[in-house]
Amino acid sequence: MTNYVIDLFSRSIGGGRVRPENPCEDDGLPGPPKAKAVKRAGVEIPLEPAAPDRPARKESISLSGVFRSYANSNGSRTPALQNIDLEIEQGEFVCIVGPSGCGKSTLLHLLAGLDRPTTGCVTVDGAIVTGPGTDRILLFQELGLFPWLTVRQNVEFGMKMSGMPRQERTDRARFFLRMVHLSHFEDHYIHQLSGGMKQRVALARSLTLKPKILLMDEPFAALDAQTRDLLHDELERVWKETSPTIVFVTHNVREAVRLGDRVLLMSFRPGRIKKEFEIDLQRPRHVEDSDVAQLSKEILGQLREEIDRSFNAEYSREEKR
Ligand code: ADP
Repeated sequence: MTNYVIDLFSRSIGGGRVRPENPCEDDGLPGPPKAKAVKRAGVEIPLEPAAPDRPARKESISLSGVFRSYANSNGSRTPALQNIDLEIEQGEFVCIVGPSGCGKSTLLHLLAGLDRPTTGCVTVDGAIVTGPGTDRILLFQELGLFPWLTVRQNVEFGMKMSGMPRQERTDRARFFLRMVHLSHFEDHYIHQLSGGMKQRVALARSLTLKPKILLMDEPFAALDAQTRDLLHDELERVWKETSPTIVFVTHNVREAVRLGDRVLLMSFRPGRIKKEFEIDLQRPRHVEDSDVAQLSKEILGQLREEIDRSFNAEYSREEKR
């Protein structure tokens, strides 16, 4: 039972097994800093020519030449992602939209370290992603909250597993429950909460691990519009207060424009980044704002082309049967 619980939780925070395929052969990244001098017999001798200091890398996430395909039962392969070159800066809020099946979840799984590219490289802060880590938390629509634990116990769970002393984890859980406005519900059980509250519990639980990167896979898709609006405000506030990099997958273009610094539009299979949209609109935004609506319309027009392509591909496959 305990193993089952740990497995469920580790999946919800981005754990799981890596399927090793081809590891990155050459990451093209700078190695460890080179010594500028050596000491010989107590005398410091400068190494010539002195290597110029490399500017600090701004990006937190980098994908280069990423391709991911999956084997089918008939021996062929489905290309899920192709030619993905992408850099995401530390603290940036990036939203990804695209037709169903274009590889959005696959992309998040690669970032979470739950999967590996067939070819190409994924790095976080310059290090190749080889597996899951608590610096990258994946939040699903299915939240993986435990019904037999209270809200606070759920939030404490990851810290308990990592061996954190009781008082410290309780203090930290309460801090983040305050941040998501759930202090008064810490002794409630999960079935006593609304859908939006459950999302906030999952968010608080993720934040206790102080992730550098939050990966969110359609987290608000099942919520009603009003609750979603509130959670947009809440997520934006938490993002400002804790400054993680956020990669947020959604079907909802307005949600993407409401939240993102940048919206990436993916093409139908094999998924590529078809177009990027910088969202320069002032924050806070609202999904009903006219400038949000206008930009969403433009993005939606291009998304529709991809959705049409996906329908046409599905229909022609049906006809061939
Ligand atoms: P999205 O999240 O955009 O809906 P996915 O990333 O889930 O798309 O899937 C992209 C493509 O890869 C789809 O064609 C899907 O069927 C395929 N795919 C995803 N995961 C697997 C897997 N584990 N095995 C085989 N095919 C997969």
